[in-house]
Amino acid sequence: MVRNSGEIDGKRFDVAILGGGLGGLQCGYILAKNGLNVCVIEKNPLAGGCLQSFRRRGAGDTICEFDTGLHYVGGLDEGQPLNRLFSYFGLLDLPWQKMDPEGFDEVIINGKSYLFANGHNEFAERMTEYFPHEKENILKYTALLKKVGESLPKSLSPKSSEDVYTGSLFAESAHKYLTETIGDPLLREVLSGTSLKMELSRNLPLYTFAQINNSFIESAYRLQGGGNMVTEKLIEGIEGFGGSVAVNCEVTSFAGNEIIINNIHKVEANKIISDLHPAATMNLASESAGIRKVYRNRINRLENTFGMFTANIALKPCTVKYHNRNRYIHKLGQGRSLWDASDNYAAHPTEMTSVLASYYNSPDSSPANQEYTDRIDLLTPMSWNEVEQFQQSSVGKRDRRYNELKEAKLEQVLDFVEEQLPQLRGNIERVYTSTPLTYMNYTATAQGSAYGIKKDCSNLMLTLLTPKTPVPNLFLTGQNLNLHGILGVSMTSFFTSAHIIGMENAVKGLEF
Ligand SMILES: Cc1cc2nc3c(=O)[nH]c(=O)nc-3n(C[C@H](O)[C@H](O)[C@H](O)COP(=O)(O)OP(=O)(O)OC[C@H]3O[C@@H](n4cnc5c(N)ncnc54)[C@H](O)[C@@H]3O)c2cc1C
Repeated sequence: MVRNSGEIDGKRFDVAILGGGLGGLQCGYILAKNGLNVCVIEKNPLAGGCLQSFRRRGAGDTICEFDTGLHYVGGLDEGQPLNRLFSYFGLLDLPWQKMDPEGFDEVIINGKSYLFANGHNEFAERMTEYFPHEKENILKYTALLKKVGESLPKSLSPKSSEDVYTGSLFAESAHKYLTETIGDPLLREVLSGTSLKMELSRNLPLYTFAQINNSFIESAYRLQGGGNMVTEKLIEGIEGFGGSVAVNCEVTSFAGNEIIINNIHKVEANKIISDLHPAATMNLASESAGIRKVYRNRINRLENTFGMFTANIALKPCTVKYHNRNRYIHKLGQGRSLWDASDNYAAHPTEMTSVLASYYNSPDSSPANQEYTDRIDLLTPMSWNEVEQFQQSSVGKRDRRYNELKEAKLEQVLDFVEEQLPQLRGNIERVYTSTPLTYMNYTATAQGSAYGIKKDCSNLMLTLLTPKTPVPNLFLTGQNLNLHGILGVSMTSFFTSAHIIGMENAVKGLEF
């Protein structure tokens, strides 16, 4: 791995990839596998972007690995889409741990619990037990998810690579679909209740809602260890194919075939792929890059999804029971809906309606200790407005008021989950918190947004970006395009690479 920009100064590559998040590394892998001389250029000392994990002290002298943006993945059983994609990238032999198929997710609304089971039939049966009067509608809903999931491999067929951008489900509203299909308003909330993995807004495309929910209903897995295992594997693959990954290399500008790194060094490339947030890409493109003002303005005006407040909590040993599932805890006032969330973050930034609790166990803890959890991550949406005033300060040198804000938020989150996790507060050994500002500093994502650009089914032309840009040798990839999340980004890496080597070559070796 290249650790110093001086080592690549003056080199020329077939493709330079700006940003070594999942999208950048996967494009690097596909293109290097196809014989191109690629270089993935990452600003941080560690690649991975949202997949980075970090090591901090846990209970006593133990060291814990905490994840940032990888809590679980869907569709990893044999034959399912992510399994095929991860097989291509050599990621299947990582220690993936299957979550409880009887209840991989638990949605708790105002104290009442609903378990999500794996498998379309099992999922429908479980939901019907809770809502017997909705049996037919549940079947309709489940059939739609299945159909959307089945369409996924087709979008990687050499003949229909662009379908995914024009598919009618992108142009339909998930909220409208649910309202028209499901009669019981509470069931609508339950079906939407695992959706802290996207921002629920009235114009959220049905495709996004259905594809993501479907993949987890197919199967759900956690990675035992940290997301950086994925990163390391991809880097190993890229280097094995003759490509390079350069860290500590911040792209400070680019134009034409030239990329300036850390303001002093220069590399050249025939083609450039940017895995950065498109607004960050526009900021780095110099005037001479040939990007018209109208395109820059369009990108800069796009709205972003919410950011997250995260509390990574290390627990005292053998105190809090382990759950092999995520728990989505919601508190909804009379007549309120999870679908109001998007508007609420803007209107009432400090109001808390939803928290996700994810439980972790060390792979090497003794069987007796497997009953208990070592770490819990609590995540809740956090408005950019709350942290914006501190954006000029840098990590480690923040204003005292910023730390007070984080402490107050942590208290609010702990109060919020108290009823469901009564043992938590008294058994905390250490807590590490982060906000959208943390994410913005590490990944340069606009407003520290968790899932990138907000797609709007009523305005697809503007909000659904494709890999192509107005500059012939510049392409985009990553979560801001088609679909966010590990599955979405993995798919998009093929769409982007296809613009350079053709879909036929990109998908060679991908068994669908
Ligand atoms: C809190 C949270 C929880 C999540 N949980 C899940 C989950 O459980 N399951 C799931 O499927 N998805 C989850 N996601 C989403 C998933 O992590 C992302 O969709 C995915 O990792 C995004 O990858 P990316 O490559 O598009 O972007 P990023 O990870 O943002 O990568 C962009 C990269 O570009 C680099 N960069 C930026 N500026 C420069 C520059 N000037 N020069 C060089 N490099 C630069 C950054 O450092 C970064 O490495 C979560 C996300 C968040 C934020």
